[in-house]
This record gives sequence, C-alpha cells and structure tokens, in this order.
Amino acid sequence: MPGLDELAAEISSCQDCELACTRTNAVPGTGPADAEVVFVGEAPGFNEDKQGQPFVGQAGQFLNDLIRAGGMERKDVFICNIIKCRPPDNRDPLPHEVAACRKYLERQLELIQPKLVVTLGRHSLQHFLPGQAISKIHGRPLLKDGQPVMPMYHPAAALHQGSLRSVIIEDFKKLPDALVRARLVRERAAAPVAVDSGQTAPEQGRLF
Ligand code: URA
Repeated sequence: MPGLDELAAEISSCQDCELACTRTNAVPGTGPADAEVVFVGEAPGFNEDKQGQPFVGQAGQFLNDLIRAGGMERKDVFICNIIKCRPPDNRDPLPHEVAACRKYLERQLELIQPKLVVTLGRHSLQHFLPGQAISKIHGRPLLKDGQPVMPMYHPAAALHQGSLRSVIIEDFKKLPDALVRARLVRERAAAPVAVDSGQTAPEQGRLF
C-alpha cells in the first residue's frame, strides 16, 4: 500500500476541485507516520499556501504553544487539514470542496491509525461529529466509530476573541489524560473478543 509520502505527492498534484487553479501549493500535512495524535484543522491559509506546510502562520505559532501545553512536541504529532488547498481569500470551504478532499484525510488516518484525533474548529468537528456544537463539547473526548476524538476550538479563535484563549489552553491541558485513555480504548479494540464475553461495541459519541 502506498505510504504517506506517496499520498502527499498525489495530493500535491490533485485537480479534483477548482482550488487546484488558485493554490500556490497544496498542503497535505506533516508529521511522522506513527504519530499517536493527529490534529485536523480547517484549510490552509495565506502562509500555509505559500510554504506548503500546515499551521505556519499566527494560528500555527499558537498551536505550537498549545501542543506543548498538552505535553507534546510538534515533531511527534501529525498536523493536517480537512481540505488540502487554500480557499481564495480564506473563505469557508464549500461543501463540494470538502467532499472532493474527504478521501485524502480518510487515507491519512487509515495509514497513521492514530490513538487520538484532535479536531480544531467547527469545520473539522463537523467532519467527525456532524451536528455537534463546538461551544458545547470542546475539551471533551468522544468516540466516533471507535476512534477517540477530542474536539477543540480552532487556535485562530483566540486571536479573534481573546476571552477564548484561556479556555483553549485549559482544554489542551486535558490532552495527556485523554491520550492515556485513548490508548486503552484502542488496545481494547485491537484485543480479540471472546464470542460470549458480553462486550459490546463502544457507543457513538459517548465520552470515553
Ligand atoms: N488554519 C487552519 O485551519 N489550517 C492551517 O493550516 C492554518 C490555519
């Protein structure tokens, strides 16, 4: 099976929506293939489009601080976005652009098999947990199809709304504990289950 590098090359030459005509660079994502944690943002912005790297602008600087507040280093986690090319003028991604790009995030997650997915902002949250409100579930680890997911506000939210800054920092401080529990969930899911063990599949959207 092709790996992350081959997938990144495929993304970089993708022509599946009109964002291919306006991008400077596609931004597939960065980080190790064995990352335990994958952070999923919304879409590349101006700086990301220029450099081909996710979260390298102002929001990215804050994300680096947040990752450290969560007890991790940026080099150890995988960082990507729901859509891989910058929407002109940083407008919201359109539904057909999200739909065209969906396959790439799915393949990235299939290859990495992260213990924990951290969604950044409402577009990323809608991808994993449609219909949920970020204001209600931020900082609460949930299960989606057996995958532990931690919904977070987007780091740029703190740049626009200063009062959210401390909320976001406190949410990220919960990551070490969420990761310990996510590892257990994934280990349990990988363990063989006896037919008559009485174990049931984890419930969708419940806290883990
Ligand atoms: N905002 C995002 O959602 N992603 C980036 O890569 C940069 C800013």
